[in-house]
Amino acid sequence: MEHSYLIKPMLASHYPTAVYGKGIYIYDEDGKAYLDGSSGAVTASIGHAVPEIIKAMTKQAEKISFVYRSQFTTNEAEQLARTLSEIDFIKDGHYSSFFVNSGSEATETAMKIAIQHWQEQGRPTKNKVISRWTSYHGITMGALSLSGHSERRHRFVSLLDDLPTIPAPYCYRCPFNQTYPSCQLKCASDLEAAIHRIGAEHIAAFIAEPIIGAAGAVIVPPDGYYERIKEICDENEILFIADEVMTGIGRTGKTLAMEHWNVIPDIIALGKGMSAGYTPIAATLASEKVLDPILQGSKIVMSGHTYSANPQSAAVSLAVLEYIEKHNLINEAEEKGAYLLAELQKLAEHFSMIGDVRGKGLMVGVEFVSDSLSKTPFPKKLDITNSIVLAARDKGLLIYPASAGIEGGEGDAVIIAPPLTIKKEEIDQLVELFKKTITDIQ
Ligand code: PLP
Repeated sequence: MEHSYLIKPMLASHYPTAVYGKGIYIYDEDGKAYLDGSSGAVTASIGHAVPEIIKAMTKQAEKISFVYRSQFTTNEAEQLARTLSEIDFIKDGHYSSFFVNSGSEATETAMKIAIQHWQEQGRPTKNKVISRWTSYHGITMGALSLSGHSERRHRFVSLLDDLPTIPAPYCYRCPFNQTYPSCQLKCASDLEAAIHRIGAEHIAAFIAEPIIGAAGAVIVPPDGYYERIKEICDENEILFIADEVMTGIGRTGKTLAMEHWNVIPDIIALGKGMSAGYTPIAATLASEKVLDPILQGSKIVMSGHTYSANPQSAAVSLAVLEYIEKHNLINEAEEKGAYLLAELQKLAEHFSMIGDVRGKGLMVGVEFVSDSLSKTPFPKKLDITNSIVLAARDKGLLIYPASAGIEGGEGDAVIIAPPLTIKKEEIDQLVELFKKTITDIQ
């Protein structure tokens, strides 16, 4: 293989060279088409090369692409923050936005805002953040400290903060060996036990992905879970941070996934779908209640990056949000997602290696097992996930590798999350390509 000066995820692997994209397809230099069955990393939610977005990009570039946030504000960044605050589900909380460039930065900023919220009220010991071990909140050190994604964290453990975690609401493999609803949501009350162990006076916030993505391949909690979690947080004066980086802006059939349970978070992290991959931008949204002590106190949110709130990214994100609204893509994600889920669940009847198919909207996880009755995972050394992802790519289907959600990083799974713009016949094509892939691997 020719030497590459680009550091790619797997240094010794061959990657096809993407040349252009159109709709839900990406084309490589040989003209081969790939159906983008995972929107990249659950990001390209409106598909590729949408003319309206290209136009908005060009128009903004002709005006101004960059100003530094401590020297100027811009109409584009102000408008984007206003548009996000007007999301129906949260509008009563008067949320303001802090813009960053990636989901990792959004969750780190969420953590910092939560800690500052208590500091500015003279309660500096409230500075730990509880998370769930089965979670992924980002790759930077603070965000990784919150994440139990073994593969991504184990090399850097010495640099990570040892933050408290609780098990995930993972019904397919209940961490408490119980079943819903007789379990009485032990996974939620475990948060209460953890708080009592540590002391609420040491805890600033609890963070959770509404639906667990990369670390659990779309773990959807049982009904009542988030209601109980929020109750526990409120009773103990702990802020609830929803990491909606993967689920946010329509992916699950609602603008924010927390809408499925009608539980309003205090702080929200957004990324990926906010700009559908057209530009790097992410955001931390904090309610008026959360920000107020900071406004009354130091008046500084201690976070931020050179590119925070740059007008180029803000204009693109605005155009993406407008496109999603104009084309009713969130409602469509709900309908098309139900169809995709049902079609993939049918496959589980034919392939014993498919242990579980779960999801909400256009975010579906498929977990693979060596024995579907005992739910035994494949031995790690077989690296089934990677084999499936590569075999799918050969067939022209892109899917996203994920952990199955088993503590310790065992288990194989993929996420299927095509652009919200996918058509029904394209879903059929996706399912057919996936079926062919599993047939070859089985
Ligand atoms: N939070 C969640 C839920 C994610 O899925 C991700 C990325 O996959 C992140 C945070 C980190 O986002 P980024 O890769 O943009 O830093």
